[in-house]
Amino acid sequence: MSVELAKKVWAEASDRLKAILQPDIYSRWIEVIHAVNLDGSQLTLGVDNDYYQTWLEEYYLQFIRDAVGASSETPLSIAFTVIPRSTEVLQTARAAAPEAPPSARTSVREHLGSRNRSDFAPLNPKFSFNSFVVGPSNSFPHAACMAVAQAPARAYNPLFIYGGVGLGKTHLMQAIGHHVQADSRASVCYLSSETLMNDYVHALQERTVVAFRKKYRSVDLLLIDDIHFLAGKERLQEEFFHTFNALFDAHKQIIMTSDRPASEISGLEQRLVSRFEWGLVTELEAPDMETRLAILRNKQATAQVHLPDDILLFLAQNIKANVRRLEGALVRAISYTSLTRQPLTIETLRYLLRDSLSQEKQSEVTFDSIQRAVAEHFDIRLSDMSSKRRQRDVAIPRQVAMFLCRTMTRSSLPNIANAFGKTHATVLHACRAVTTRMDVDSDLKQQVQRISQKLGHSIV
Ligand code: ADP
Ligand code: MG
Repeated sequence: MSVELAKKVWAEASDRLKAILQPDIYSRWIEVIHAVNLDGSQLTLGVDNDYYQTWLEEYYLQFIRDAVGASSETPLSIAFTVIPRSTEVLQTARAAAPEAPPSARTSVREHLGSRNRSDFAPLNPKFSFNSFVVGPSNSFPHAACMAVAQAPARAYNPLFIYGGVGLGKTHLMQAIGHHVQADSRASVCYLSSETLMNDYVHALQERTVVAFRKKYRSVDLLLIDDIHFLAGKERLQEEFFHTFNALFDAHKQIIMTSDRPASEISGLEQRLVSRFEWGLVTELEAPDMETRLAILRNKQATAQVHLPDDILLFLAQNIKANVRRLEGALVRAISYTSLTRQPLTIETLRYLLRDSLSQEKQSEVTFDSIQRAVAEHFDIRLSDMSSKRRQRDVAIPRQVAMFLCRTMTRSSLPNIANAFGKTHATVLHACRAVTTRMDVDSDLKQQVQRISQKLGHSIV
């Protein structure tokens, strides 16, 4: 542990930052940072409040990392910590906000605003239908959400939206909330399943379960995000089961999101699975190239900046699996141009985005690579992946391969069915069968884990 060393590294790193950043940016965002400690390979930097921390982590971390990397002989990771000095600083920081890019301003203001709320968390103003770009991959879920927003509890109840990380589930769900709030006096409750869980545990500890029940059963629109978090939490599932029934019977709208279909959430009670499928189940898929480009154009218009077409095209062509990552890449490109005032080349962009690009590569697992890895693991022929043979020694590996295609690539059931020459019902059955079997057969679970690790993913 060394405070002195931390100060020395930070002094040198801030000199480097001073050389590349515009003076007002430097004095507002970098000069306020002080070195706290250097412990092993971690450099801890202190800021006065969490406003700075959020902002720095979101916009300047890569610059800081690079500068610190160049100032230290060994690679260092960076952690921020809040060490308040005075409350005045917060006011200054708030006053500085209007000059910052609008997209981030909202999230930070939200962050500050929500701190003292004991009530439901506010909706994120960014997540409206207006700012949601519609393309072939999301037109069905989008239409379903519009229908629910226009006729809550009458169109589809419950509405269950599932899909991979960063594809817009929370965005669409909150867009419904905004629409309903603007249109009526209905009470809207948005919360993540994790918050629900914390609230429940708190209620149990404080013996306020009755109040807890009342709170959630009195809303008109319940938006529960990331419901897959309920997996294996039996008491919470029991509690949620009754909340669900109470709301449903009272004709209140329930909307849920999940990273997979309810039937594939292992450790979710059957009675909940069936209820979640009562209304409409809709899947968000990764957007195609044109939609990705449209999303980028839309975001740059909101941020009131203009990047050359070849830069946008490069981003859209190379960041495919996750809209959140695509947005992050755009922000990085924008901050580079506005901070350094240098023209952005594809080469620099490649360097700036090296982490996202390598993550993207990793997620490029194909049906073919999965089928090969599974066939090799179970020592069967690759052709058996699409053969009609039903013997157990072939049927089980084939089901495992279908399951892995589903969980790793997030492709739609018909696409996977195609790759195996089967129907989409067969794929669905295979995914359910493998999920259920892994719960009771630890050997199978281990084998699936091993194959997925070999493919560069860990799924269980
Ligand atoms: P999820 O909840 O599926 O993990 P989010 O809803 O948080 O994903 O979306 C991640 C980010 O991508 C958000 O900032 C969201 O606004 C943006 N996003 C996703 N899909 C779209 C879209 N079709 N149009 C515009 N922005 C999108
Ligand atoms: Mg989400």
